[in-house]
Amino acid sequence: MVICDEPSWKYAVNDVNPLFDANQIYGVTLRRVKTTFLRGTKLLHSFPGQPSSVYIVAHELAHIMLNSEDEATVTQAAAKWMAERNDFDLLAK
Ligand SMILES: [Zn+2]
Repeated sequence: MVICDEPSWKYAVNDVNPLFDANQIYGVTLRRVKTTFLRGTKLLHSFPGQPSSVYIVAHELAHIMLNSEDEATVTQAAAKWMAERNDFDLLAK
């Protein structure tokens, strides 16, 4: 797992897929090379209405643990895990 500062995040996202908008995503898991990149600033500074830092990590862990690229499945699993620990705030307040 690689935590990126903003310049390295933009570089990494562009390298993964130039069509991705680095400003709109917070993590990328590349299962084939077993590497996850996280946008470090979003782990440190959550903004209301954006994914919470806990959700960002849970979502990427779900990609890894389920070995899945299916966003709906991963999102559902991450939300379930958070609910199990009584954390229902998928979005930052
Ligand atoms: Zn995802």
